[in-house]
Amino acid sequence: MSIKSGYFKKHLAVDLSAGSCTRVDLEESFLRDYIGGRGFGAKMVWDNLAAHDFKVDPLGPENLLVIAPGPLTGLYLPSSGKCSFISLSPSTGVYGDSSMGGSFGAELRQSGLDVLSITGRAEQLSVLLIDNGENKILPMPELEGKGCLETEGLVKEALGSHEINVATIGPAGENLVRFACVNADWSRNAGRTGIGAVMGSKNLKAVAVRGAKDLPVHDLDGLIAEAEKAYAYMRNHKFFDLWQREGLMNVMEYANAAGILPSYNFKDASFARIGQINGDTMLDSYKIGDSACFSCPMCCGNICLVKQGKYIGTVVEGPEYETCAMLGSNLGIDNFAAVLRAAQACDEYGIDTISAGNLIGAAIEGYEKGILSLKDLDGRPITWGDEEAILDLIRKIAHREGIGDILANGSLQVIETWPEMDKLILQVKGLEQSAYDSRAGASMALAYATSDIGAHHTRAWTIAKEIELGKDWSNEEKVELVIYHQTLRPLFDMLGVCRLPWIELGLNEQHYERFYSSVTGEPATLPELLEKSNRIYDLTRLINTRLGMSRADDTMPYKVHSAPVQTGPTAGQVIDKKDFERLLDLYYQKRGWDSNGIPAAGLEKQYS
Ligand code: SF4
Repeated sequence: MSIKSGYFKKHLAVDLSAGSCTRVDLEESFLRDYIGGRGFGAKMVWDNLAAHDFKVDPLGPENLLVIAPGPLTGLYLPSSGKCSFISLSPSTGVYGDSSMGGSFGAELRQSGLDVLSITGRAEQLSVLLIDNGENKILPMPELEGKGCLETEGLVKEALGSHEINVATIGPAGENLVRFACVNADWSRNAGRTGIGAVMGSKNLKAVAVRGAKDLPVHDLDGLIAEAEKAYAYMRNHKFFDLWQREGLMNVMEYANAAGILPSYNFKDASFARIGQINGDTMLDSYKIGDSACFSCPMCCGNICLVKQGKYIGTVVEGPEYETCAMLGSNLGIDNFAAVLRAAQACDEYGIDTISAGNLIGAAIEGYEKGILSLKDLDGRPITWGDEEAILDLIRKIAHREGIGDILANGSLQVIETWPEMDKLILQVKGLEQSAYDSRAGASMALAYATSDIGAHHTRAWTIAKEIELGKDWSNEEKVELVIYHQTLRPLFDMLGVCRLPWIELGLNEQHYERFYSSVTGEPATLPELLEKSNRIYDLTRLINTRLGMSRADDTMPYKVHSAPVQTGPTAGQVIDKKDFERLLDLYYQKRGWDSNGIPAAGLEKQYS
């Protein structure tokens, strides 16, 4: 039976080396099995690797970048603005992806496409224009070195329209900083795994999109009715107002009280001066407006302005929790204006704030412990809370100057250069850790360690549940919790929606089952959708193991096992290494992978 609706059934394949843009019809089996977003991307990356005998340099022209919204992106339903960017990651060398909010994905769908893939390398710095079915690769060398926000404006001006949506890289992407991100809508980011460097390696400064097509929907009345119910449910939730007011900044106080807030490069897990960088401080002195992704009533984005002092005039969309924690408490900064300035710099250079905060924190601690010399730091000392030195280091990373050139290559290169830094850097598979300290809960450590992209919280954010329900969870329960998150969460990226309404406002999984059926006409049940979602987790595991990863890469960094939290509610806690290994054994068993973390022989055939 054919899929009734929900797709244009079109893929635009761009080869920047050949200068070609080819529209390709998508097969129904591909749409049905992989759904969209991360599902499309994982399958296309797998096929590209197979075509190159699994020898692809993440920064080589042969690496494939896939940009994919989902069948729900851009529709009238809650928080439907998500679009996935998928590729081999320059941070880890294996599978990588990152999801962007805003309205770029909605615009891409309105141009009549379900997925865009980009390979090759343009001769000159270029912009890919997708304009209602007309596609062009436009050389724009004049954009070299321009910041993200500036580029967004310049591209719109050059193309003569402010209705065009622009996803762009900054200097960091051009300079192949391995944790460079892609920005759109001012500061919505595909932040993690270095997708900005993949664009830079292709000489692709930006993708500009404009579309005016109606999106295909099987049962529009049914969808509207379901959407109305979901919006009402969200609006009536007890935390709805809090989310509108503070967005993710409300997590600062929660994480501090729970003892999971990174402070001083994860030496500690709470911050004594939290009151200076929390949601109340933002509301009292800095917030001037809200921002939201496409069709999202939560509008978790905060627009902040510094009105006085040395950073006067700094205006930022943000910070959200991760940025405030990693560029604030993790670096010993208690000045909210300085956090805003650092966030603005990262946005303009196009740098992932989580990776930057980790690497700068490690550099400060490395200097404190005598691992890094003054000479290593180019003669400029750096200490906790030293705002100016920290801002200078962000600039040096973006431009690859001095020590910034080593930090720009990410954790693995830093450890290779100074092996003792291995004890200070929080990373898994080369991806620097998100802002939730896993020493408070072993399920979070397992989630980070087994994540296909490295230490990123959105794969399985289990810490809150584990803390909330106490410490006497059995290993069985912890493993099942991690696997459930890893199974469900790809589905949000495949459908093209934000997962926050599910996490924070209790919008249950069945809503998404009904949205999917209304849009596509497919009578899929939630278990069927979850099976497809789980297949993607198996597929990305296969990609990683074919690229050489195994149990030896599902490890947690030194501090998690051997450096107890110093103060606060989790003081003294570490994750016992032997307990962790037992969890990992059980995890592999339940996944059906062998004791080395390798999926069963024969699984590959499912994806051919
Ligand atoms: Fe965007 Fe926040 Fe809404 Fe998610 S909750 S769609 S990140 S505004």
